[in-house]
Amino acid sequence: MANLKLSHIYKVYDNGHKAVNDFSIDIKDQEFIVFVGPSGCGKSTTLRMVAGLETITAGDLFIGDTLVNDMEPKDRDIAMVFQSYALYPHMTVYENMAFGLRNRKMPEEEIKERVMKAAKMLDIEEYLDRQPKAMSGGQRQRVALGRALVRNPKVFLLDEPLSNLDAKLRSQMRSEITQLHKSLKTTFIYVTHDQVEAMTMGTRIVVMKLGYVQQIDTPMNLYNKPYNVFVAGFIGSPQMNFFDVTLKREGDNVIVKFADGDEVLVPYENVCKIHEDYLNGDKQVIFGIRPEHLNLSKENVGLKVVVNNIERLGKETIIYGKLGEKAEEFTLKDEGKNIIIKIDEDDNLEVGDVIHVLPNCEKVHFFDHESEITLMNKIPTVNTLHGRAVGDKMEVLNTTVDLPKVFKDALGGKEEFEINVPPHAIKEGDCFKLKVAKLERVDDENLAYLVNGDTYLFAIVGDDVKEGDEYNFDIVNEKVDVYHDGELILERIPEEEALFGTFSKTEVKEKGERVLHFFYNFNGYKVEALPENGYKINSIDGDNCYKNTYKYMIHKDNIRLSDHGLKGEVIKLLDYGMIKFAKVKVNDDEILIKVDNDFNEKEVYLEFDGKDISVYSTRIDMKIC
Ligand code: ADP
Repeated sequence: MANLKLSHIYKVYDNGHKAVNDFSIDIKDQEFIVFVGPSGCGKSTTLRMVAGLETITAGDLFIGDTLVNDMEPKDRDIAMVFQSYALYPHMTVYENMAFGLRNRKMPEEEIKERVMKAAKMLDIEEYLDRQPKAMSGGQRQRVALGRALVRNPKVFLLDEPLSNLDAKLRSQMRSEITQLHKSLKTTFIYVTHDQVEAMTMGTRIVVMKLGYVQQIDTPMNLYNKPYNVFVAGFIGSPQMNFFDVTLKREGDNVIVKFADGDEVLVPYENVCKIHEDYLNGDKQVIFGIRPEHLNLSKENVGLKVVVNNIERLGKETIIYGKLGEKAEEFTLKDEGKNIIIKIDEDDNLEVGDVIHVLPNCEKVHFFDHESEITLMNKIPTVNTLHGRAVGDKMEVLNTTVDLPKVFKDALGGKEEFEINVPPHAIKEGDCFKLKVAKLERVDDENLAYLVNGDTYLFAIVGDDVKEGDEYNFDIVNEKVDVYHDGELILERIPEEEALFGTFSKTEVKEKGERVLHFFYNFNGYKVEALPENGYKINSIDGDNCYKNTYKYMIHKDNIRLSDHGLKGEVIKLLDYGMIKFAKVKVNDDEILIKVDNDFNEKEVYLEFDGKDISVYSTRIDMKIC
């Protein structure tokens, strides 16, 4: 039994192909994790890195609390089952299952006990004397499972184990593997390109595309709250319908307007997480609706659809149609106008019929047209507030509060402005009295819907906050972006700062032994790296590492002012009232550091520790350590 942690894992193959990018997940003991995505997206590569069959280019892999990056596969206490079964053809089933244990010199008696137990679990006791060639695909896959089972591994890795089986057997084996997982109470990681397998087996699913993780979530969250168009289209069958639309808020409703002029109404309440910028009717967005969330409308209201094809599957009927006023004019193009509708059994429809459909307004999805990311994030990324500067004060949320000097400087005499406030930058405090209209548990956080006129403001709040009550909140000014007329005039203070530098080593004799010390170099200022990180950089880039430039990221809290260290020139002070930052020019880089309220230096020396530095490659976009 084990939990696993994959932290910023990358795989770059020798030919330079970046197969896996920044893969991170905490897998709890006894989870059934599925990696799913189209062929070539990096699922097997990731699984093989966990197994130890492929080296990890960068990142850390922990099984339990042990870092196993460099541990031999046989020492990792995992077992892997392959699509190809990988059975020895000349051995019997018993010998195949016993083979690994015999290699480990386990006493024959214990081997027998384990093989018989596994054979019983998998219902292959009667085939133990057969050779694999005399068995069916399903039976062979059971033997492959049995060979993994006898090792009592901490973690089971399964790479498309069912893809060689026919549909009926696949669905049977699916449920057998799920039951096996339940009874073994072990961690499973399962790779498949089949979304049905993923949805039916996984406790959590990792959806991948082109080497990047798209979303890690429970099956129901992937279905109900897909993060982007890719996940929305990949999960669910038949596929979600997508249309280009614009959105316009009118009172309590939002009008969804299709390219050819068709309109449907959605209550604002259902889409209140969408940022107001998208609700003016002037921005193209992608509307997503699953076939099962479209209903036939009896009153001829809603979207007009011409029926092209009907599939009657017994309990349900799938209608393939064309959308819009001109749908009758047949063209093979016009992809966006195709629509799929899934309804309960219906005997009356015929090809050529004109029907009207309405979306289930609780199941609508909207995505940004360019990034294809959802506009209804579980936690919205920003709230936009309108502000007005009056002397040294500002009016925000119908309240007058101090105008931070840095805002005033950025505004340069302008009065009106907007601030983009992330939900994490609204804290319980003193200034703004707001009512909590609704609370929603999102992952491990409480998302509060705070009433702000006829829209909501989203904030992350503590467990003691109650729905319906009023509370005082503050805005954390250094965590907001300030805009004037759509132009960014003041950017939020980042948590981390980037400095570029080189990497070096020295070799010293300590107690008669040669010991290597590694350093990050910032134009004369040298910081010793943690030895393990030094070795990591060296193992990834080889001897080139001593010629390369690296990006060093340091959390602001770990940069100290000192009387020696890295010299910098103060070029600007940013006064947020309660807190002050200095913009410092260091070599060719500019960074922001936290300073005391009475700080007024022109020149500073900065110090930081090697253990607080994260290292990024500048050759390929990759975190090394
Ligand atoms: P999946 O399991 O999702 O189908 P893989 O992990 O097998 O994908 O492969 C991910 C990508 O890495 C693919 O583009 C594949 O061509 C490439 N790849 C796999 N193995 C190697 C290798 N040994 N050398 C170079 N590229 C590889």
